[in-house]
Amino acid sequence: MTYMAVDAHAHAAGDSAADAAAGSAGRRDLAVRAAVEQGLIDEDAPLLCLLDTAGIRASATALTSAFAAALAPGTPALHAFAVKAAPLVPVLRLLADAGLGCEVASPGELALARAAGVSPDRIVLDSPAKTAAELREALALGVAVNADNRQELERLDALVATAPTTSPIGVRINPQTGAGTIDALSTATATSKFGIALRDPGAREWLVRAYLDRPWLTRLHTHSGSQGVSLALIAEGVRELYALAEEINEAAGRRQVDTLDIGGGLPVNFSSDAVTPTYAEYVSALRSAVPGLFSGAYGLVTEFGRSLTAKHGLVLTRVEYTKTTGGRPIALTHAGVQLATRTVYAPAAWPLRILPYSAKGAPLTGPVVAQDIAGPACFAGDLLAAARELPLLAPGDLVCVPDTGAYAFTAHYGYNSLPRPAVHGFTVDPSGGVRFALARAAQPVSTIPAEAGAATPNALL
Ligand SMILES: *Cc1c(COP(=O)(O)O)cnc(C)c1O
Repeated sequence: MTYMAVDAHAHAAGDSAADAAAGSAGRRDLAVRAAVEQGLIDEDAPLLCLLDTAGIRASATALTSAFAAALAPGTPALHAFAVKAAPLVPVLRLLADAGLGCEVASPGELALARAAGVSPDRIVLDSPAKTAAELREALALGVAVNADNRQELERLDALVATAPTTSPIGVRINPQTGAGTIDALSTATATSKFGIALRDPGAREWLVRAYLDRPWLTRLHTHSGSQGVSLALIAEGVRELYALAEEINEAAGRRQVDTLDIGGGLPVNFSSDAVTPTYAEYVSALRSAVPGLFSGAYGLVTEFGRSLTAKHGLVLTRVEYTKTTGGRPIALTHAGVQLATRTVYAPAAWPLRILPYSAKGAPLTGPVVAQDIAGPACFAGDLLAAARELPLLAPGDLVCVPDTGAYAFTAHYGYNSLPRPAVHGFTVDPSGGVRFALARAAQPVSTIPAEAGAATPNALL
């Protein structure tokens, strides 16, 4: 079946979102060509990940300015990047330079934030299964902690009683406002594993009492979910959070809860270069659902992840071979489940665009044909796209997978002992020149045995 090409590289112009999309698409085209010309991708190095530094900065600015425009002047606000979305020290450093902190959920993520030079008072710890040692470390450092459950709160009682801390401490609540379209990413369902369920019998009264009994509880936290969750549903969760804070403060007769941590979760558009929804749209949804949030009565913490980096990362891989099987053309590439795990295992929920380029790095156009874009892993489902209509690919052509800068190549999956590829940042100067900076070196194959017990080869004899 052959159709006329829908030019995957085309873009609409006219409004600023479209202009921004055109800017990022233009930078991407320049970066792909430059990666070929500068020898970053070739027969011996057929796989590469790129981060658009200017794009990440622009998203960080869009976030901070959207909230700053709505918040009463002087209101403290910390925008903590959810490290799990892109756990790379240079990314955390770039975002810190743009005014952001870090949200961490494991000892490894805390170590990354600290390696990036983020000061403890700009870090928030949120994991649902913190050990006593992790809590002790966070409290000693002054990292903000959100307790997930009643038992954790009791553990904190003991720690706070024995060692004074500057850490702001809160409790995560599950507003039980319901699921989005992706169950695995819906954290505010009736039975979600996260936080203290607000609508369970007796829970609200218990929570208010827990705060009155613990004057050191000064924050409330929620994160209603991520991809697939509507702005209205996220805003509803924040409205529940705000109402509970007001109720606690009323019962306490003072402003005991002084900061609301509203989590992250702004969805990402994976179907085009348009950035939608925007932070400004989210702020306006919050303003209508929870007007008091911006009054200055509460400091604000946010924890955005995917919306800051997803659209600014891309995977670039060479087509190694092509074949036709059962009438279906298949391009075999080096990018698959190790870099786009969610897409491969749940393709309907996580579709990715495929942008084809020639071996020289020019956008490929022409008649399209339905093709499978396959990865290198040894199972049949390792496809980045099935029956995707693209100009017919040939060995040596390049396949670019945009929108992979969060939870994709930054969350490498070690299937088939495939090594982690290099990640380069890129910037484009006004004349179109592209400068690359190595953000993470490729994992040498020689380290794979070392990480797989090579030091203890006889352990099972
Ligand atoms: C994952 C997570 C985030 C970030 O979610 P995004 O969808 O990447 O914005 C924020 N807060 C918590 C508690 C999380 O678990």
